[in-house]
Order: sequence, then structure tokens, then C-alpha cells
Amino acid sequence: MNKIEHIGIAVKDIDASNQLFAKLFNKEHYKMEEVESEGVKTSFFQLGESKIELLEATREDSPIAKFIAKKGEGVHHIAFDVTDIHAEVARLKEEGFIVLNETPKKGADNKLVVFLHPKSTNGTLIELCQEII
Ligand code: ZN
Repeated sequence: MNKIEHIGIAVKDIDASNQLFAKLFNKEHYKMEEVESEGVKTSFFQLGESKIELLEATREDSPIAKFIAKKGEGVHHIAFDVTDIHAEVARLKEEGFIVLNETPKKGADNKLVVFLHPKSTNGTLIELCQEII
């Protein structure tokens, strides 16, 4: 894994959170994007080489809606940049990590993404992401 690509934060109201985080970082988000398949609306802030991704649920059965119902708003996942997501998934499976989706799916921000179950990573949802070229 190369670096922390972004940290995902679950929020209830992405417009209000956009304003809050813009104040916090003293800069505006650079994009918003809806990922229909995941039932989320996302917003990205760039800070140096890392990003913050805000996530708001767009429907009841969205993983973000479930997360907020259970734990409230807050850090939802940490995403790591990888060079070869298929090779990395194979390696991590071999090491005993639980992969939530073995076939990488199209995530926000032009990325192929795979999630690891928090049960196998000390309680933190991990996202692997590879830029789609
Ligand atoms: Zn993410």
C-alpha cells in the first residue's frame, strides 16, 4: 500500500458538513459525486496528497445510513492507495483478511475500490483504491 488516499467521514447533512469542513480547512471542497450503487453522495476536500471524503446516505438501506444509525456520525473508513488492486486483494486474502467485495467496484473519484471487513482489521473499515487510468 502506498499511502493514505483519503479518510471517509459519515455525515447526516452533506451541505451543512461541506460548510463546516470548508471552515475547518479554510478551503472549499473540489467535487461532489453521487455513487448510485452505494446509495451515497460524496464530497471531497484535498489536503496535500491526502483527501477527506464526506459521505451522506441517499437512501435508507445505504451502508452510510446503517452506520450512522448504529454509531452516529464520524470516521467511517480509511482508504489506502494501491498500485495493483487485484494483486493486493489476492495477497490480503492469503493473509486471512476478510474481503467484502472480491471484484473491485467503481467507487467515487474515478477509483476501483475493495473493502475489507472491520472484523478482520481491528474494527476499522479499510478501503483499497486504485486510480482508474
Ligand atoms: Zn472512500
